Amino acid sequence: MDWQKLETYFRSLDRSLFVGNDMKKHASHDMPLPIGFGQTISQPSLVLEMTQLLEPENDSKVLEIGTGSGFQTALLAKMSAEVYTVERINKLAEEAKKRLDALNFSNIYYKIGDGSTGWQEHAPYDRIMVTAAAGLLPDELVNQLANGGRMVIPIGPSTFQELKLITKTDHGEINIKTVEWVRFVELKGPYGWVE
Ligand code: SAM
Repeated sequence: MDWQKLETYFRSLDRSLFVGNDMKKHASHDMPLPIGFGQTISQPSLVLEMTQLLEPENDSKVLEIGTGSGFQTALLAKMSAEVYTVERINKLAEEAKKRLDALNFSNIYYKIGDGSTGWQEHAPYDRIMVTAAAGLLPDELVNQLANGGRMVIPIGPSTFQELKLITKTDHGEINIKTVEWVRFVELKGPYGWVE
């Protein structure tokens, strides 16, 4: 991964473009902010850290679950070849697409619906980023991760979760590492929480 490119883009990305008018004055603060529908744009330092953990390469095909505001999507799209992003809330997905189109991204593919079981049609993915808290590690996401791939996912109860880095060796063996405690909104669906 090009660490310098990621840091430079992260510092240049205006977070106020990704929140509503009422939240723009708080956009430069390193904290999560509401984006409507009970959802949040994540703390920017955590978005950067999770992207660094994922280590997207410029030829990576990335799956993102939880488009939200599109802020994390922009970082992933800047650092990789293609991003497939899934959001269950129609309005959030539409707003994120408008913002990312305005930033001239042409390598992002959008799906509205439940992403807790991934996006089988375009699998396998070199990288998978999950930005909502799963109760369990979804088997489908593990199966859709390419050999040699990396996945970052928060797993645990709705209060606090462990951020996990899942890696798949070139022979398909799975390794799971716990990175730190985090707090995310719930991943809805069969591996998360009841709608
Ligand atoms: N990364 C986003 C950003 O930069 O703004 C923040 C994502 S927010 C913390 C989590 C998102 O996951 C919410 O927009 C929520 O609607 C979405 N979500 C929750 N469960 C989902 C599911 N099963 N499938 C797709 N999206 C889901």
